[in-house]
Amino acid sequence: MTLQIELSGVNKYYGAFHALKNIDLAIEDGTFVALVGPSGCGKSTLLRSLAGLETISGGDMKIAGQLMNNVPPRKRDVAMVFQSYALYPHMTVEENLTYSLRIRGVKKADARKAAEDVATTTGLSHLLKRYPRELSGGQRQRVAMSRAIIRHPKAFLFDEPLSNLDAALRVHMRKEIRALHERLHATFVYVTHDQIEAMTMADHVVVMRDGVIEQQGRPLDLYDTPANRFVAGFIGSPAMNFIPATVAEDGQSLILNLGASDQRVATGRSLPAGKHVIAGLRPEHLLVTTTGDATFKVPVAFVESTGSATYVTTETQPELTVVETGRGAISSGDTIGLWIAPDKIHVFDRESDLRIS
Ligand code: ATP
Repeated sequence: MTLQIELSGVNKYYGAFHALKNIDLAIEDGTFVALVGPSGCGKSTLLRSLAGLETISGGDMKIAGQLMNNVPPRKRDVAMVFQSYALYPHMTVEENLTYSLRIRGVKKADARKAAEDVATTTGLSHLLKRYPRELSGGQRQRVAMSRAIIRHPKAFLFDEPLSNLDAALRVHMRKEIRALHERLHATFVYVTHDQIEAMTMADHVVVMRDGVIEQQGRPLDLYDTPANRFVAGFIGSPAMNFIPATVAEDGQSLILNLGASDQRVATGRSLPAGKHVIAGLRPEHLLVTTTGDATFKVPVAFVESTGSATYVTTETQPELTVVETGRGAISSGDTIGLWIAPDKIHVFDRESDLRIS
């Protein structure tokens, strides 16, 4: 596999503001990468820097082996798909698709043929003569993607392309973009603040915060072994529960500090005795049990049901979220037993927030 995108030590300043801090990233050709993180973390700045719409302040940025630091956007051979679609309103779909080819001198008949071919794969054949205002949001998004596909770029850069669409269409378009990636085998870099989108669409997820890459890797590796508390809390929905804890004198159990009631949990692992840590427990890994094997017992504050799942919030400090599939028979005021599989407990250093185990 060849590297299609290589960033080393990339920094970006806006005046005194340090927006990208020493970004290292190596993306193999054909990978679907998601850049994800909370608002202001620098993901759009990183994408725009790849497109050449921002000039980086330091470091090296290569696309297909070629140094791009000072190469203008139109010479980078990357295609950007925006949230706003950025279609030309006075041009038909066909004219929108062929515009980039026409300005590069491609003959009218060849450009039309290319537009028809792309429109076939993106389901736009019957809409080629329409204007953008005559299209739905999903159709406009498809035109924006088709306009990128027609150029056969070295990489596709997506900037939150689905955030203007309603929930159902967003779920549908996720699948379409994923299918498009499988068809084209091209490199996709996809910016989103939605971790579910990142997890379900990408081969490689890059989690950012405050201009720094906190962790990158395969989606389920980030879910299973988050490198720090931030990634642990960001990936997964509902979010992971965090409980202050101390490693017991046996170097193996955790004393969870749930307000007034400390709870002892065996981890089956070797931990530094006496250390103050944070225990991370995913809501789906806390199992409600009525038998005697409960790891601990807690009162219930309230219960929410979506029909397919039940979310239980405990009356503890900190409160815990527990997810049960189905309806359950729990009510507020009940006391429930919770069972935790020892290998599902995440342990983080209380000072550094880094994963210990
Ligand atoms: P969002 O999801 O809200 O779009 P983001 O992660 O994409 O967030 P960026 O747009 O990359 O964030 O912005 C990163 C940081 O850089 C933010 O704090 C933002 O205010 C700042 N920033 C972005 N563009 C500029 C600019 N032109 N001048 C000064 N600061 C900027």
